[in-house]
Amino acid sequence: MVGPMIYMDHHSTTPVDPRVLDALLPYLREHFGNAASRSHAFGQRAREAVEAARAQVAQLIGGRPSEIVFTSGATESDNLALKGVAHARRDEGRLKIVTVATEHKAVLDSATRLTREGFEKVLLPVASDGRVDLEAAREAIDERTALVSVMLCNNEIGVSQDLVTIGEMARSVGAWMHCDAAQGLGYVPLDVRTMPIDLVTLTGHKIYAPKGVGALWVRRSSPRVRVVAEIDGGGHERGMRSGTLAVPGIVALGTACAIQADEGANEAQRLRSLRNRLWERLSEMDDVRLNGPALTGPRHPGNLNVSFGFVDGESLLLALSSVVAVSSGAACASASLEPSYVLRAIGLDADAAASSLRFGLGRNTTPEEVDIVGEAVSEAVRKIRSGSPLWRARQRGEPVDW
Ligand SMILES: *Cc1c(COP(=O)(O)O)cnc(C)c1O
Repeated sequence: MVGPMIYMDHHSTTPVDPRVLDALLPYLREHFGNAASRSHAFGQRAREAVEAARAQVAQLIGGRPSEIVFTSGATESDNLALKGVAHARRDEGRLKIVTVATEHKAVLDSATRLTREGFEKVLLPVASDGRVDLEAAREAIDERTALVSVMLCNNEIGVSQDLVTIGEMARSVGAWMHCDAAQGLGYVPLDVRTMPIDLVTLTGHKIYAPKGVGALWVRRSSPRVRVVAEIDGGGHERGMRSGTLAVPGIVALGTACAIQADEGANEAQRLRSLRNRLWERLSEMDDVRLNGPALTGPRHPGNLNVSFGFVDGESLLLALSSVVAVSSGAACASASLEPSYVLRAIGLDADAAASSLRFGLGRNTTPEEVDIVGEAVSEAVRKIRSGSPLWRARQRGEPVDW
Protein backbone atom coordinates (compact mmCIF):
# COMPACT_ATOMS: atom_id res chain seq x y z
CA MET A 1 0.00 0.00 0.00
CA VAL A 2 1.45 3.31 -1.06
CA GLY A 3 0.66 6.33 1.10
CA PRO A 4 0.64 9.91 -0.09
CA MET A 5 3.80 11.21 -1.71
CA ILE A 6 6.41 12.46 0.71
CA TYR A 7 8.14 15.69 -0.24
CA MET A 8 11.88 15.68 0.42
CA ASP A 9 13.08 18.15 -2.16
CA HIS A 10 13.07 21.38 -0.17
CA HIS A 11 16.22 22.67 -1.88
CA SER A 12 14.36 22.95 -5.15
CA THR A 13 11.38 24.72 -3.61
CA THR A 14 9.25 24.80 -0.47
CA PRO A 15 5.49 24.85 0.02
CA VAL A 16 3.97 28.16 1.09
CA ASP A 17 3.56 28.30 4.88
CA PRO A 18 -0.13 28.78 5.83
CA ARG A 19 0.82 31.83 7.91
CA VAL A 20 2.54 33.33 4.87
CA LEU A 21 -0.51 32.65 2.73
CA ASP A 22 -2.78 34.34 5.29
CA ALA A 23 -0.57 37.43 5.26
CA LEU A 24 -0.47 37.52 1.47
CA LEU A 25 -4.13 37.04 0.51
CA PRO A 26 -5.50 40.45 1.57
CA TYR A 27 -2.98 42.02 -0.81
CA LEU A 28 -4.44 40.06 -3.68
CA ARG A 29 -8.03 40.77 -2.61
CA GLU A 30 -8.83 44.14 -1.09
CA HIS A 31 -5.44 45.87 -0.78
CA PHE A 32 -4.52 45.72 -4.44
CA GLY A 33 -3.04 49.21 -4.74
CA ASN A 34 0.18 50.10 -6.50
CA ALA A 35 2.83 50.92 -3.91
CA ALA A 36 4.03 53.75 -6.15
CA SER A 37 0.62 55.48 -6.23
CA ARG A 38 1.20 58.51 -4.05
CA SER A 39 -2.18 60.19 -4.47
CA HIS A 40 -4.57 57.82 -2.71
CA ALA A 41 -5.13 55.42 0.15
CA PHE A 42 -4.87 52.29 -1.99
CA GLY A 43 -1.29 53.14 -2.82
CA GLN A 44 -0.59 54.21 0.73
CA ARG A 45 -1.81 50.88 2.10
CA ALA A 46 0.34 48.90 -0.33
CA ARG A 47 3.36 51.08 0.37
CA GLU A 48 3.04 50.57 4.13
CA ALA A 49 2.90 46.81 3.64
CA VAL A 50 5.99 46.90 1.44
CA GLU A 51 7.92 48.97 3.98
CA ALA A 52 6.93 46.62 6.80
CA ALA A 53 8.17 43.69 4.72
CA ARG A 54 11.37 45.54 3.91
CA ALA A 55 12.05 45.84 7.64
CA GLN A 56 11.31 42.14 8.20
CA VAL A 57 13.66 41.05 5.41
CA ALA A 58 16.42 43.38 6.59
CA GLN A 59 16.06 42.23 10.17
CA LEU A 60 16.65 38.58 9.34
CA ILE A 61 20.19 39.38 8.16
CA GLY A 62 20.92 42.38 10.38
CA GLY A 63 20.70 44.93 7.58
CA ARG A 64 18.81 48.22 7.32
CA PRO A 65 15.44 48.39 5.55
CA SER A 66 16.73 51.04 3.14
CA GLU A 67 19.34 48.56 1.93
CA ILE A 68 16.81 46.05 0.57
CA VAL A 69 16.08 45.91 -3.18
CA PHE A 70 13.12 43.70 -4.04
CA THR A 71 13.55 41.47 -7.09
CA SER A 72 11.85 38.51 -8.75
CA GLY A 73 14.01 35.95 -6.95
CA ALA A 74 17.53 34.73 -6.40
CA THR A 75 18.38 34.42 -10.07
CA GLU A 76 17.67 38.10 -10.63
CA SER A 77 19.39 39.11 -7.39
CA ASP A 78 22.52 37.18 -8.37
CA ASN A 79 22.49 38.76 -11.83
CA LEU A 80 22.08 42.22 -10.31
CA ALA A 81 24.84 41.65 -7.77
CA LEU A 82 27.40 40.38 -10.27
CA LYS A 83 26.58 42.50 -13.29
CA GLY A 84 25.52 45.55 -11.29
CA VAL A 85 28.76 45.63 -9.29
CA ALA A 86 30.95 44.80 -12.30
CA HIS A 87 29.39 47.66 -14.26
CA ALA A 88 29.70 50.03 -11.32
CA ARG A 89 33.38 49.30 -10.79
CA ARG A 90 34.64 48.99 -14.35
CA ASP A 91 35.98 52.55 -14.32
CA GLU A 92 38.11 51.78 -11.27
CA GLY A 93 39.87 49.16 -13.36
CA ARG A 94 38.45 46.38 -11.22
CA LEU A 95 37.70 43.81 -13.87
CA LYS A 96 37.90 40.59 -11.92
CA ILE A 97 35.07 38.49 -10.47
CA VAL A 98 36.13 35.75 -8.07
CA THR A 99 33.63 33.01 -7.31
CA VAL A 100 33.52 29.27 -6.65
CA ALA A 101 33.27 26.27 -8.98
CA THR A 102 30.22 24.99 -7.07
CA GLU A 103 28.11 28.16 -7.04
CA HIS A 104 24.60 28.20 -8.46
CA LYS A 105 24.31 28.69 -12.22
CA ALA A 106 22.76 32.13 -11.67
CA VAL A 107 26.16 33.26 -10.34
CA LEU A 108 28.34 31.21 -12.68
CA ASP A 109 26.47 32.16 -15.84
CA SER A 110 26.38 35.84 -14.85
CA ALA A 111 30.15 35.75 -14.39
CA THR A 112 30.57 34.02 -17.73
CA ARG A 113 28.41 36.64 -19.43
CA LEU A 114 30.68 39.34 -17.99
CA THR A 115 33.74 37.74 -19.57
CA ARG A 116 32.30 38.72 -22.95
CA GLU A 117 32.53 42.34 -21.84
CA GLY A 118 36.19 42.03 -20.91
CA PHE A 119 35.83 40.99 -17.28
CA GLU A 120 37.85 38.11 -15.90
CA LYS A 121 36.15 35.22 -14.09
CA VAL A 122 38.12 33.19 -11.54
CA LEU A 123 36.56 29.98 -10.18
CA LEU A 124 37.97 28.85 -6.85
CA PRO A 125 38.30 25.09 -6.43
CA VAL A 126 36.83 23.24 -3.46
CA ALA A 127 38.17 20.39 -1.33
CA SER A 128 36.52 16.97 -1.22
CA ASP A 129 34.15 18.20 1.52
CA GLY A 130 33.08 21.11 -0.67
CA ARG A 131 34.87 23.83 1.29
CA VAL A 132 36.58 26.58 -0.67
CA ASP A 133 40.34 26.26 -0.99
CA LEU A 134 41.39 29.28 1.09
CA GLU A 135 44.92 29.34 -0.34
CA ALA A 136 43.48 29.65 -3.83
CA ALA A 137 41.17 32.37 -2.59
CA ARG A 138 44.05 34.31 -1.07
CA GLU A 139 45.93 34.09 -4.34
CA ALA A 140 42.99 35.09 -6.54
CA ILE A 141 41.52 38.01 -4.57
CA ASP A 142 43.57 41.13 -5.37
CA GLU A 143 43.39 44.88 -6.09
CA ARG A 144 41.84 44.18 -9.48
CA THR A 145 38.90 42.28 -7.94
CA ALA A 146 35.52 44.00 -8.13
CA LEU A 147 33.49 41.28 -6.42
CA VAL A 148 33.88 37.99 -4.60
CA SER A 149 30.78 35.80 -4.63
CA VAL A 150 30.39 32.83 -2.26
CA MET A 151 27.13 31.16 -1.34
CA LEU A 152 25.84 30.57 2.20
CA CYS A 153 24.92 26.89 1.70
CA ASN A 154 25.34 24.81 -1.40
CA ASN A 155 22.04 23.73 -2.91
CA GLU A 156 23.27 20.20 -3.69
CA ILE A 157 25.62 19.11 -0.92
CA GLY A 158 24.64 21.61 1.77
CA VAL A 159 28.18 22.74 2.61
CA SER A 160 28.48 26.19 4.12
CA GLN A 161 31.59 28.29 3.65
CA ASP A 162 33.93 30.35 5.80
CA LEU A 163 32.37 33.64 4.71
CA VAL A 164 34.19 35.66 7.36
CA THR A 165 37.67 34.58 6.29
CA ILE A 166 36.91 35.02 2.61
CA GLY A 167 35.07 38.30 3.22
CA GLU A 168 38.09 39.62 5.13
CA MET A 169 40.30 38.75 2.18
CA ALA A 170 37.95 40.79 -0.01
CA ARG A 171 37.87 43.69 2.47
CA SER A 172 41.65 43.88 2.65
CA VAL A 173 41.90 44.69 -1.07
CA GLY A 174 38.74 46.78 -1.46
CA ALA A 175 36.76 44.07 -3.25
CA TRP A 176 33.08 43.69 -2.34
CA MET A 177 31.69 40.44 -1.04
CA HIS A 178 28.43 38.92 -2.29
CA CYS A 179 26.65 35.95 -0.72
CA ASP A 180 23.89 33.97 -2.40
CA ALA A 181 21.90 33.05 0.69
CA ALA A 182 19.01 31.34 -1.09
CA GLN A 183 19.73 28.15 0.87
CA GLY A 184 20.13 27.93 4.62
CA LEU A 185 18.85 31.41 5.42
CA GLY A 186 17.69 31.48 9.04
CA TYR A 187 19.44 28.17 9.76
CA VAL A 188 23.09 29.05 9.23
CA PRO A 189 24.32 32.30 10.84
CA LEU A 190 24.38 35.30 8.52
CA ASP A 191 24.61 38.71 10.16
CA VAL A 192 25.82 41.59 8.04
CA ARG A 193 26.44 43.75 11.12
CA THR A 194 29.32 41.54 12.14
CA MET A 195 30.29 39.74 8.94
CA PRO A 196 32.32 41.29 6.09
CA ILE A 197 29.58 40.82 3.49
CA ASP A 198 28.35 43.63 1.24
CA LEU A 199 25.54 42.10 -0.83
CA VAL A 200 23.14 39.26 0.01
CA THR A 201 20.79 37.41 -2.32
CA LEU A 202 17.63 35.85 -0.96
CA THR A 203 14.50 34.32 -2.42
CA GLY A 204 10.99 33.61 -1.20
CA HIS A 205 10.35 30.12 -2.45
CA LYS A 206 13.19 28.48 -0.52
CA ILE A 207 11.82 29.81 2.77
CA TYR A 208 8.11 28.97 2.47
CA ALA A 209 6.99 32.06 0.52
CA PRO A 210 5.86 31.91 -3.12
CA LYS A 211 8.02 31.73 -6.22
CA GLY A 212 8.79 34.91 -8.12
CA VAL A 213 9.88 37.20 -5.31
CA GLY A 214 13.26 37.81 -3.76
CA ALA A 215 15.61 40.52 -2.64
CA LEU A 216 19.13 41.80 -2.85
CA TRP A 217 20.56 43.47 0.21
CA VAL A 218 23.12 46.12 -0.73
CA ARG A 219 25.30 47.70 1.98
CA ARG A 220 24.97 51.49 2.06
CA SER A 221 27.90 52.45 4.27
CA SER A 222 31.46 51.29 4.99
CA PRO A 223 31.71 50.46 2.25
CA ARG A 224 29.00 52.23 0.27
CA VAL A 225 28.26 49.63 -2.38
CA ARG A 226 27.14 50.79 -5.81
CA VAL A 227 25.09 48.66 -8.17
CA VAL A 228 24.23 49.68 -11.71
CA ALA A 229 20.62 48.80 -12.53
CA GLU A 230 20.07 45.99 -15.00
CA ILE A 231 16.36 46.77 -15.40
CA ASP A 232 15.46 50.38 -16.26
CA GLY A 233 12.08 51.99 -15.97
CA GLY A 234 10.30 54.04 -13.35
CA GLY A 235 13.24 54.27 -11.00
CA HIS A 236 11.76 52.04 -8.28
CA GLU A 237 13.93 50.66 -5.50
CA ARG A 238 16.23 53.70 -5.49
CA GLY A 239 16.86 53.29 -9.17
CA MET A 240 18.41 49.83 -8.75
CA ARG A 241 15.45 47.81 -9.96
CA SER A 242 12.56 49.36 -11.81
CA GLY A 243 9.17 47.74 -12.09
CA THR A 244 5.92 47.88 -10.13
CA LEU A 245 6.51 46.16 -6.83
CA ALA A 246 4.95 42.70 -6.45
CA VAL A 247 3.17 43.68 -3.24
CA PRO A 248 1.55 40.30 -2.32
CA GLY A 249 4.81 38.45 -2.90
CA ILE A 250 6.78 41.04 -0.98
CA VAL A 251 4.40 40.81 1.99
CA ALA A 252 4.83 37.03 1.83
CA LEU A 253 8.62 37.31 1.72
CA GLY A 254 8.59 39.63 4.71
CA THR A 255 6.39 37.26 6.71
CA ALA A 256 8.54 34.29 5.75
CA CYS A 257 11.66 36.13 6.89
CA ALA A 258 10.03 37.02 10.23
CA ILE A 259 9.17 33.35 10.75
CA GLN A 260 12.74 32.30 9.94
CA ALA A 261 14.05 34.89 12.39
CA ASP A 262 11.75 33.60 15.16
CA GLU A 263 11.90 29.89 14.51
CA GLY A 264 14.99 29.25 12.41
CA ALA A 265 17.33 28.24 15.22
CA ASN A 266 14.90 25.70 16.72
CA GLU A 267 13.89 24.43 13.31
CA ALA A 268 17.54 23.92 12.37
CA GLN A 269 17.93 21.74 15.45
CA ARG A 270 14.85 19.70 14.53
CA LEU A 271 15.96 19.28 10.92
CA ARG A 272 19.44 18.25 11.99
CA SER A 273 18.08 15.45 14.13
CA LEU A 274 15.71 14.23 11.39
CA ARG A 275 18.53 14.33 8.85
CA ASN A 276 20.78 12.36 11.20
CA ARG A 277 18.02 9.82 11.65
CA LEU A 278 17.73 9.42 7.87
CA TRP A 279 21.49 8.99 7.53
CA GLU A 280 21.47 6.35 10.29
CA ARG A 281 18.96 4.33 8.28
CA LEU A 282 20.71 4.77 4.95
CA SER A 283 24.20 4.13 6.27
CA GLU A 284 23.17 0.70 7.51
CA MET A 285 23.64 -0.38 3.87
CA ASP A 286 27.05 -1.23 2.43
CA ASP A 287 28.73 1.04 -0.09
CA VAL A 288 26.83 4.19 0.75
CA ARG A 289 28.74 7.45 0.90
CA LEU A 290 27.85 10.85 2.31
CA ASN A 291 28.69 13.76 0.00
CA GLY A 292 29.79 17.08 1.47
CA PRO A 293 31.13 17.70 4.97
CA ALA A 294 30.57 15.38 7.94
CA LEU A 295 27.15 15.72 9.53
CA THR A 296 28.75 17.54 12.47
CA GLY A 297 30.52 19.89 10.04
CA PRO A 298 29.53 23.19 8.43
CA ARG A 299 26.37 22.45 6.51
CA HIS A 300 22.67 23.07 5.90
CA PRO A 301 20.76 21.15 8.59
CA GLY A 302 18.16 19.72 6.17
CA ASN A 303 20.51 18.50 3.46
CA LEU A 304 21.66 14.96 2.84
CA ASN A 305 23.39 14.05 -0.41
CA VAL A 306 24.25 10.38 -0.73
CA SER A 307 25.96 8.19 -3.33
CA PHE A 308 24.75 4.60 -3.57
CA GLY A 309 27.38 2.28 -4.98
CA PHE A 310 26.31 -0.10 -7.76
CA VAL A 311 23.10 1.81 -8.30
CA ASP A 312 22.11 4.08 -11.14
CA GLY A 313 20.52 7.22 -9.76
CA GLU A 314 17.88 7.41 -12.45
CA SER A 315 16.70 3.85 -11.74
CA LEU A 316 16.63 4.66 -8.06
CA LEU A 317 14.56 7.80 -8.63
CA LEU A 318 12.17 5.80 -10.76
CA ALA A 319 11.86 3.09 -8.11
CA LEU A 320 11.10 5.73 -5.48
CA SER A 321 8.84 7.87 -7.61
CA SER A 322 5.60 6.76 -6.02
CA VAL A 323 6.88 7.18 -2.46
CA VAL A 324 9.09 10.21 -2.19
CA ALA A 325 9.98 13.32 -4.17
CA VAL A 326 13.76 13.66 -4.12
CA SER A 327 16.17 14.62 -6.84
CA SER A 328 19.34 13.27 -8.30
CA GLY A 329 22.57 15.15 -7.77
CA ALA A 330 22.03 16.73 -11.14
CA ALA A 331 18.76 18.31 -10.00
CA CYS A 332 19.42 21.92 -10.82
CA ALA A 333 20.38 21.04 -14.34
CA SER A 334 17.82 18.26 -14.58
CA ALA A 335 16.91 19.44 -18.07
CA SER A 336 20.31 18.12 -19.08
CA LEU A 337 21.50 14.63 -18.23
CA GLU A 338 25.00 15.83 -17.37
CA PRO A 339 26.28 14.56 -14.03
CA SER A 340 26.25 17.26 -11.37
CA TYR A 341 29.12 19.75 -11.69
CA VAL A 342 29.02 20.20 -7.93
CA LEU A 343 29.62 16.49 -7.28
CA ARG A 344 32.32 16.45 -9.96
CA ALA A 345 33.99 19.46 -8.29
CA ILE A 346 34.30 17.57 -4.98
CA GLY A 347 35.99 14.72 -6.79
CA LEU A 348 33.25 12.23 -7.65
CA ASP A 349 33.65 10.48 -10.98
CA ALA A 350 30.75 10.51 -13.43
CA ASP A 351 29.44 7.14 -12.20
CA ALA A 352 29.43 8.07 -8.53
CA ALA A 353 27.85 11.44 -9.36
CA ALA A 354 25.16 9.64 -11.33
CA SER A 355 24.41 7.33 -8.42
CA SER A 356 23.62 10.13 -5.99
CA LEU A 357 20.42 11.41 -4.47
CA ARG A 358 19.77 14.71 -2.75
CA PHE A 359 17.37 14.66 0.18
CA GLY A 360 16.07 18.04 1.32
CA LEU A 361 14.16 17.92 4.60
CA GLY A 362 11.85 20.78 5.52
CA ARG A 363 9.27 22.31 7.80
CA ASN A 364 6.65 19.60 7.28
CA THR A 365 9.01 16.65 7.44
CA THR A 366 8.15 14.21 10.24
CA PRO A 367 10.09 11.36 11.87
CA GLU A 368 7.55 8.94 10.36
CA GLU A 369 8.31 10.25 6.89
CA VAL A 370 12.01 9.84 7.50
CA ASP A 371 11.47 6.21 8.47
CA ILE A 372 9.28 5.48 5.45
CA VAL A 373 11.81 7.06 3.12
CA GLY A 374 14.75 5.29 4.77
CA GLU A 375 12.96 1.95 4.34
CA ALA A 376 11.88 2.64 0.75
CA VAL A 377 15.36 3.69 -0.31
CA SER A 378 16.96 0.64 1.30
CA GLU A 379 14.53 -1.66 -0.41
CA ALA A 380 14.94 0.00 -3.80
CA VAL A 381 18.73 -0.08 -3.52
CA ARG A 382 18.66 -3.77 -2.58
CA LYS A 383 16.44 -4.55 -5.53
CA ILE A 384 18.52 -2.64 -8.06
CA ARG A 385 21.75 -4.10 -6.76
CA SER A 386 20.44 -7.63 -7.00
CA GLY A 387 20.33 -7.11 -10.77
CA SER A 388 23.91 -5.82 -10.93
CA PRO A 389 26.65 -8.30 -11.94
CA LEU A 390 29.24 -6.03 -10.35
CA TRP A 391 27.41 -6.02 -7.07
CA ARG A 392 27.12 -9.81 -7.09
CA ALA A 393 30.84 -10.07 -7.80
CA ARG A 394 31.44 -7.77 -4.89
CA GLN A 395 29.24 -9.99 -2.68
CA ARG A 396 31.38 -12.96 -3.65
CA GLY A 397 34.36 -11.07 -2.27
CA GLU A 398 35.90 -10.10 -5.59
CA PRO A 399 37.74 -6.77 -5.51
CA VAL A 400 35.30 -4.43 -7.22
CA ASP A 401 35.62 -0.70 -6.83
CA TRP A 402 32.94 1.94 -7.30
C1 LIG B 1 17.05 28.23 -5.96
C2 LIG B 1 18.36 28.95 -5.97
C3 LIG B 1 18.58 30.03 -6.83
C4 LIG B 1 17.53 30.49 -7.81
O1 LIG B 1 16.50 31.12 -7.13
P1 LIG B 1 15.17 31.58 -7.89
O2 LIG B 1 14.48 32.40 -6.86
O3 LIG B 1 14.45 30.33 -8.25
O4 LIG B 1 15.58 32.38 -9.07
C5 LIG B 1 19.79 30.66 -6.78
N1 LIG B 1 20.75 30.26 -5.94
C6 LIG B 1 20.59 29.22 -5.11
C7 LIG B 1 21.68 28.82 -4.19
C8 LIG B 1 19.39 28.52 -5.12
O5 LIG B 1 19.24 27.47 -4.31
